[in-house]
Amino acid sequence: MALSEEAQRIVAKFDYTNEDVNEGVQEFLRQMKEGLEKDGTSLSQIPTYVTSAPNGTEKGLYLAVDLGGTNFRVCSVLLGGDSTFNLTATKVAIPKDLMVAESSKPLFQFLAKQVEEFLRTHHDDHFQAYIQRRKTLSSIERVREEEIFHLGFTFSFPVQQLAINKGTLIRWTKGFDIPEAVGKDVCKLLQDAIDDLHLPVKVSALVNDTVGTLMTRSYTSPGKESAILGAIFGTGTNGAYIEKMDKIKKPVQGSYDKSTGLMVVNTEWGSFDNQLNHLPDTPYDTQLDKESLNPGLQMYEKRVSGMFLGEICRLALLDLVKDPAISLFKNDSQTTVAEESGLNKQWGLDSALLSTAAEDESEDLSKLKASIEKELKIFAPSLEDLKAFRDVSAAVVRRAAKLSAVPIGAIVLDSGNLETDEIVDIGVDGSLVEYYPKFRDMVMETLASIEGIGEAGAKKIRIGIAKDGSGVGAALIALVATRME
Ligand code: ADP
Repeated sequence: MALSEEAQRIVAKFDYTNEDVNEGVQEFLRQMKEGLEKDGTSLSQIPTYVTSAPNGTEKGLYLAVDLGGTNFRVCSVLLGGDSTFNLTATKVAIPKDLMVAESSKPLFQFLAKQVEEFLRTHHDDHFQAYIQRRKTLSSIERVREEEIFHLGFTFSFPVQQLAINKGTLIRWTKGFDIPEAVGKDVCKLLQDAIDDLHLPVKVSALVNDTVGTLMTRSYTSPGKESAILGAIFGTGTNGAYIEKMDKIKKPVQGSYDKSTGLMVVNTEWGSFDNQLNHLPDTPYDTQLDKESLNPGLQMYEKRVSGMFLGEICRLALLDLVKDPAISLFKNDSQTTVAEESGLNKQWGLDSALLSTAAEDESEDLSKLKASIEKELKIFAPSLEDLKAFRDVSAAVVRRAAKLSAVPIGAIVLDSGNLETDEIVDIGVDGSLVEYYPKFRDMVMETLASIEGIGEAGAKKIRIGIAKDGSGVGAALIALVATRME
């Protein structure tokens, strides 16, 4: 059978119809409600203790750190009070041996060290002044409040939040596995490591990156509307939205400001429909899950986010490479795939290559060819090979974009805001939504196909990139937290 036909056979496996989308939305609405009523449900629906959104007038200098996936970021944020901010940031890859380990201590020591280096590099005057004064303090004298940096800790894994600056880890995701840390307060783990280095830093807020995205979007939103939802499509995927407090039926411990009647809820939608009653499933999804660190968990995330799309694509393409009757990546029946090719390794195909495939509009797909040769060590792929790669990868991402519209659509419908005259604003962040060509357009098109939204409703929805959500958003939440003290 011709390669192009075989490629189309694979493409068809990734069909996800509008009917499927609508069914998914209804199920998501049901799981949202269930998660607000009790613990231990598919959607965790975690109350975040954040009870208001910023309006752009907030001011001050704050620190923020972000542990969320591939990188650790440290930044300081100067909020201007006029919807603008100045951000100084550094980023370092997290060493793999700290991500999967017996003890979390080396990981948190590493994080604290990065904070110290950041202060020395970017706020050395403040830091040195603090060191000098600390030398003169007796043990009972306290450091002055103005000498302390308040830090928002963006920690993008499922946590049971117990206060604005306290939360215990429920489980690791996205390739992390340090069982000893599960059940521990991650703010305390970070604060202890910071205190060991005697840094003038207080961990004031525990922030999920989606909540940070929501806050950032509200601070910077062009029309001054508060965003109703912040969503991430990066290494992982998740969303946090503004919920009415009276709809949160499960107990919310501790103290928080009840006057707004609102609370931001972190859905943890990565685990939507782990039972696979509604999610699409191909042999490649099954294999990816089986070979992952957390089989049976984060089933929605495994079909949507950057960490997994390249791998789904790799497994689908391998099917075509391994079939002797098909000529994908073969020259005169000789394979052109080098033994050390990423195509032969788990996680060996980065989702960024899917963007390259979608970006290349040339007839000979020369840019894609160069990238496949360089990134995957597959030499002299034919035009047919390149087209098969392009079509299969586009199908994997198209399904992901349509799936992304499921929680977004459900949350928009649930908010009731489509019935008002206002724009329904949504902030998004993450490399997939930022860099994959037309990802947002595909999501918007799918939203228009949802019953109760339609073309007219979709016109009222605005999805805007909220960059640096984990930095600016964490700073905004650290500010809110210090006001509550
Ligand atoms: P994080 O979620 O870790 O904070 P990012 O938002 O940058 O960071 O997401 C990183 C993920 O996005 C990785 O899984 C990577 O494979 C994927 N990615 C990076 N660049 C692109 C791109 N251009 N197109 C699609 N996916 C990308």
